[in-house]
Amino acid sequence: MDTRRKFLQKISGSAIGLSLLPGLGMATRLTADKTFSGKTLNVAILGLGNYATRVAEAMTLCTRAKLTGLISGTPSKIAAWQAKYNIPAKNCYNYDNYDAIQDNSDIDAVYIITPNALHAEEAIRVAKAGKQVICEKPMAISVKEGEEMIDACKKAHVKLLVGYRMHFEPHTLEIIRLRKAGEFGKITFFQGLSGFTIGDPSQWRLNPKLSGGGSMMDIGIYSVNGSRYMIGEDPVWVNAVETKNDPVKFVAGIDETMQFQLGFPGGAVASCLSTYSMNNLDRFFLDGVNGFAELHPATGYDPTEGFTHKGPLNFPTTVHQAVQMDEMAAIILDGKQPVLPVDGEEALKDLKVIEGIYKSAKSGKTVNLTI
Ligand code: NAD
Repeated sequence: MDTRRKFLQKISGSAIGLSLLPGLGMATRLTADKTFSGKTLNVAILGLGNYATRVAEAMTLCTRAKLTGLISGTPSKIAAWQAKYNIPAKNCYNYDNYDAIQDNSDIDAVYIITPNALHAEEAIRVAKAGKQVICEKPMAISVKEGEEMIDACKKAHVKLLVGYRMHFEPHTLEIIRLRKAGEFGKITFFQGLSGFTIGDPSQWRLNPKLSGGGSMMDIGIYSVNGSRYMIGEDPVWVNAVETKNDPVKFVAGIDETMQFQLGFPGGAVASCLSTYSMNNLDRFFLDGVNGFAELHPATGYDPTEGFTHKGPLNFPTTVHQAVQMDEMAAIILDGKQPVLPVDGEEALKDLKVIEGIYKSAKSGKTVNLTI
């Protein structure tokens, strides 16, 4: 217990210290290999908002993924990004004309980073233009839309990848390696806590037409996805309860707080919390008959920290988005198989669980899942 306390003191200290560092200063492992002369994955970003800004900055650290194009409805953003990332005008598009990327050999893939409800239509347009599709989570706002995206990409013979950056994170992957090696014994329990206090009530995340849901669609998906990769199985039932303390800010169709339990075929259970109204919730805990593992922070931008019954995991801090984009380049260009999948089928499973969560919360009943 003493070691654990020291470890927790260490991580809260380091998380505070490092979070004060500006921008990507916390990167310790990845730097672009400027001498790389092989094929790069040339990527256009669609939607130049907050997360896209982080991705573009991270991509300056990539070796194999390169930002070569921009798609935005705001000309002033295009101009600023062009100057910053040296993007020629011929690789810049707006939302009306981007089907023309079909004829642009400078662009191999489009990374969709817009509000959730726009993902499906945009992904299908990109696929029809014959370009590889990378899409932010959640892949779409319904299972039906997710299936349509998968079909469109199959028909167009392009890949569909979803921005599950934690699937490439070293502490996360080490825990999965240990679990597969039997280090924790039979897995019995997972706890996922995912939440933050959301600000501006006018933002698209609180508009169901653009978000497709509330905290579950935004932050809770990390606990859904995490339960699946930490336990290593897909759930067979779900049971959920929604609580809403501020129905003015969190209108119908926007869940404020959701607590859900998942049951897994091997007998493990998961207990998770997703919320837009509480802070300090970014923690995964995996329990087995012979040991345990924790990730804390588990999915946030601050350096991921891992711990098992044997002590702290010492792995490098990475810029998640940079590693993700280099790995996605290898998946698309070399057919590399990642340890944890990031394809459309993987993302569809999360949407199936989330639809089950909403159904259970509405009906008050346990919902069986077939995913
Ligand atoms: P944001 O509001 O900062 O950016 C959204 C962008 O979409 C803006 O540039 C906006 O101009 C553009 N846009 C295009 N059409 C729009 C419309 N009709 N209404 C509103 N905006 C429109 O949002 P964000 O935080 O960058 O989130 C974008 C996506 O990225 C979401 O799907 C979100 O879930 C995902 N995201 C993922 C992570 C991660 O860690 N993987 C983190 C943050 C966000």
